[in-house]
Amino acid sequence: MVALPHIKRHASCAVRVGNVVVGGGAPVVVQSMTNTDTADVQATYRQVKALFQAGSEIVRVTVNNDEAAKAVPHIRDMLLRDGLHVPLAGCFHYNGHTLLTDYPALAEALDKYRINPGNVGFGAKRDKQFEIMIETAAKYNKAVRIGVNWGSLDQDLSTRLMDENASLPQPQPSDAVMREALVQSALLSAEKAESAGLGRDKIILSAKVSRVQDLVAVYRELAKRSNYALHLGLTEAGMGAKGIVATAIGEGILLQEGIGDTIRASLTPEPGGDRTLEVKVCQHILQVMGIRSFAPQVTACPGCGRTTSTYFQELAGTIQAYLDARMPVWAQQYPGVERMNVAVMGCIVNGPGESKHADIGISLPGTGENPVAPVFIDGKKAHTLRGERIAEEFQDIVDAYVRERFGKDAEKSACA
Ligand code: SF4
Repeated sequence: MVALPHIKRHASCAVRVGNVVVGGGAPVVVQSMTNTDTADVQATYRQVKALFQAGSEIVRVTVNNDEAAKAVPHIRDMLLRDGLHVPLAGCFHYNGHTLLTDYPALAEALDKYRINPGNVGFGAKRDKQFEIMIETAAKYNKAVRIGVNWGSLDQDLSTRLMDENASLPQPQPSDAVMREALVQSALLSAEKAESAGLGRDKIILSAKVSRVQDLVAVYRELAKRSNYALHLGLTEAGMGAKGIVATAIGEGILLQEGIGDTIRASLTPEPGGDRTLEVKVCQHILQVMGIRSFAPQVTACPGCGRTTSTYFQELAGTIQAYLDARMPVWAQQYPGVERMNVAVMGCIVNGPGESKHADIGISLPGTGENPVAPVFIDGKKAHTLRGERIAEEFQDIVDAYVRERFGKDAEKSACA
């Protein structure tokens, strides 16, 4: 028997963000960010709600001007009126110290402030403005994410490290120096925040870059050198399949090493696209790695020349849509159902085997095979379907299986 590797989590401090805990061994938190104009209260409220209902456990909004600062408390109130206790993070650049000072209701409404040390201010003003934001967080008992970014790195620090590197007998490549500058910027800023009175249990760090290998190298260093809770994200991941693949690989490598307490997928949406895709990508990353479960999964084969039609692809899609539609009710009634695995396979080659590995699986007939579809439950053949209503009958079997298996679990846990 081949044992699965045990993932030993980076020992980070726990940070409370609203009603969610990040770090300290808590389940890895999924988060997202709106792309509406925050000053547009209705649009931002709708998008925060959609992201939250899709499973985002923290939602970040940009707070870039007076109008946005005034809007945030209203958005918070509207969400609370709907019974939606969404931990809200505010993203600040350049003028965060002013907005948080001028709008106490904003400082109170947010659960976390994102501060980019590279964009806090310049020269002598920088430290003062950083301190104002940290002191405000301490005053209102809020968490802070110190989020450094490749594209807005502290120029003084990077210049100093570049100069020091240039004077070495064997200088490092400039990319390595930039990665070190990112790590140092995050850690030095966190130290300053602690000196200004913010507890370590209020600080989350991120150091976002846009290339996978840089991301892995930078976060390994952060985890090695500190025990701050870490927010993982590949910044500017890009559009479509490329953005999803890059995010999944970068974050997946680190999660496999136990690094990362909260994750985001910074995908560029298609115009008019669904913003909640970034939430689903994070959930899929965590679920396929066996780190968290959110919804039953369908295992489907890719199909090949042995399949007589696209029927099995349609069935796989139908079953996934059915599971997604049932989940809001099942999640309440059948605890554990989110871990269920359903197989929909195209022919006899791998169909019965894969179906036996799933909790429940169906193996459709391929080209030239007997036109019957065996259904396997918990590894044993339980039914044989045939005819026009295979999809409907299989859904009924899945429904009965969920009631039988997870209903019992629910009764047990209710009585425990
Ligand atoms: S299970 Fe059958 S139909 Fe599916 S990919 Fe394998 S050989 Fe092709």
